[in-house]
Amino acid sequence: MWNTLIFSAIGIIFGLVLGSFYNVLIYRVPKGISLVNPKRSFCPVCNHQLAWKDNIPILSYLILGGKCRYCGSKISPIYPVIEGSTAALFLLAVFLTSNIWNMLALWILFSGGIIVTAIDLQTMMIPDFAVIMTAVGGVLWAIANGQVLLSLISAGIGFGIFLIIHFVSKQGMGFGDVEYIAALALYLVPFSLVWAILIASIAAIIFALPMLITRKANRKTRVPFGPFLALGVSIAIFIPWR
Ligand SMILES: [Zn+2]
Repeated sequence: MWNTLIFSAIGIIFGLVLGSFYNVLIYRVPKGISLVNPKRSFCPVCNHQLAWKDNIPILSYLILGGKCRYCGSKISPIYPVIEGSTAALFLLAVFLTSNIWNMLALWILFSGGIIVTAIDLQTMMIPDFAVIMTAVGGVLWAIANGQVLLSLISAGIGFGIFLIIHFVSKQGMGFGDVEYIAALALYLVPFSLVWAILIASIAAIIFALPMLITRKANRKTRVPFGPFLALGVSIAIFIPWR
């Protein structure tokens, strides 16, 4: 009871603070802006440096009414959404497992999923650091659940299948997806990997359906697959296999 309460509070606070940091990563990494220079966050419109009170997760956005304090331009609602969803998923992880290592591994999985979703939808790229952190979380998960060999087999199968699709589709599926599924598959046994890919594919088709119906899509259209892979794996983890 107390444990759950304490971990819930820690999950929400960590989620808000880390979500705020993920915003920095999501904004800066694709643009090639250094994470330490400028050290403080700035308004992307007027470049004014932000004070600490402009940087409180979610609260600042609400207090400022979604507008920059200095130039009045609109702040993207993506920032508070990222902070809120990180906190919500961290809280969810507390209830999904009673093992602290599993909880940490889920925090890493969900964090990677949020970062990949935000960056892949904007740029069609999956950043290396998100793949690496997901792989670290996957190894942690595999060890905590005594399934290291099965996880490695899943990673190999995921990598192999997606590498073939990468070449057959003439890179319609990017190499980032190949790396990302290999990292994600560390969370899964081979049986669950099948579920993950199935769920990801169905979700991606539903996402692409409006484009297919309106014939805006053709054979060269690329769908950012990273967010759906993260979703599929996050669900497949909890489909019983033993
Ligand atoms: Zn401004």
